[in-house]
Amino acid sequence: MSEFWSSVVHGLTPYTPGEQPKIDGLIKLNTNENPYPPSDKAFAAIRAVDQDTLRLYPDPQSTQLCAAIGRYWGVPADHVFVGNGSDEVLAFVFQGLLNKGPGDTGALCFPDITYSFYPAYCRLYNVGFQTIPLGTDFSFDLKNVPPDSGAVIFPNPNAPTGRAIERDEIESFLASHPSQMVVVDEAYVDFGAQSCVPLTLRYKNLLVTQSLSKSRALAGIRVGFAIGDTALIDGLNRIKNSFNSYPIDRLAGAAAAAAIEDHDWFETNRGRVMASRASLVRGLEGLGFEVIPSQANFVFARHPSAEGSRLAEQLREQKILVRHFAKPRIEQHLRITVGSDAQVDALIAALKKILGRL
Ligand SMILES: *Cc1c(COP(=O)(O)O)cnc(C)c1O
Repeated sequence: MSEFWSSVVHGLTPYTPGEQPKIDGLIKLNTNENPYPPSDKAFAAIRAVDQDTLRLYPDPQSTQLCAAIGRYWGVPADHVFVGNGSDEVLAFVFQGLLNKGPGDTGALCFPDITYSFYPAYCRLYNVGFQTIPLGTDFSFDLKNVPPDSGAVIFPNPNAPTGRAIERDEIESFLASHPSQMVVVDEAYVDFGAQSCVPLTLRYKNLLVTQSLSKSRALAGIRVGFAIGDTALIDGLNRIKNSFNSYPIDRLAGAAAAAAIEDHDWFETNRGRVMASRASLVRGLEGLGFEVIPSQANFVFARHPSAEGSRLAEQLREQKILVRHFAKPRIEQHLRITVGSDAQVDALIAALKKILGRL
C-alpha cells in the first residue's frame, strides 16, 4: 500500500464479510441472509418510484421511513435515525458516542466473542476497548462489565453465538449505571429475543440499533436504523450531516418503508425461519453436534470429533457454504444460517455423508 496513506490506514484490520461467490446451485448459509424473497409490497414500492424523481436528491431526513419505523415501534419519529445499513449507523456510534477520548473515564467494553466489526471500528476511529469474557457456555453476563467502564455495546442476540439475554437484565443494568452509555445491536432480535426499544423511552443512556438485512430480507438495499432519545439521535444526525447527507436513496427508502409496514409478510417470514431453526437444531443434534441455544437466524455448533475448518471445507466441496472463524475459543465451531427447509435438509444430508453416518 502506498506510503502516502496515513498510519491509521496502515494499521487497520478490516472486517472480512462472508463470501458471495457466483456458483450455480450454491446453498449459502454463511452470511445470515434471509432464505426467502422480501415483501412484494417492498418491491412494488420500488417499481412505483417515478423515474423522473431519480434526477433529484432524496429526502435527507428520510421523513417517511423514520415515521414508519416510529409507528411500528411506538416511538416518536424524532427518536429514529436511519443509515446505509446498520453497519453505517454503528460506525457513527463508534466514532462519536463510544469514542472515549483522553480525559474521559473508563473504556468501551464488549464481549470477547462478538461481531467482529466492533474491533474494526475501534481501530478505524482509534477507540480504546476492553473485552468481557463470555462464560464457558458462551453466555454474556452484564455483571462482568467493570464498574469503571465508560460504555458498553453488545449484540442481543449475540453474534456469532445466537444467545440472547433478557430485557429485564438489561433494564437493571441501565437503571444502576445511568452514566454509562449502552448500545444494544438488535440485528437479529426479530427471531425470538426481547427488544429493548420500549426501554429507550425511559433511559437516556440507551441506544438500540436494528437492520432490515436479516428479518426483512433486504440485505440488498442497505437500510438500518437506531432508536433512542432525541438527544442521542441529534448527535447521529450531526455526524451524518458532516459525512453524507443522503445515505438512503429513493429506491431504498421507498422499499424500506413498505417493508416495515407489511406486518403479514414479517410475521409469516419470521415464523417460518424460527420453525426451520428448530429442525436445523434437531438435525444437528441428531448427528452429535453441540448447538448453543439460538434466538437468531443462525446457529453456532460444534462437533466433538470433527474439526470446524475441515467440516466447512468439506461442505464447500458439496456446494454448501457455512461460516468458520479461525479465532481462539471458537475454532471448532461453525456458524450456520437458517435456510429454507429444503436447504436445511440438504445440509443435514451432506453432514451425514461427511461424518460417515450414511
Ligand atoms: C448483520 C449485522 C449487522 C449489520 O447489518 P446491516 O446489513 O449493515 O444492516 C450489525 N450487527 C450485527 C451483529 C450483524 O450480524
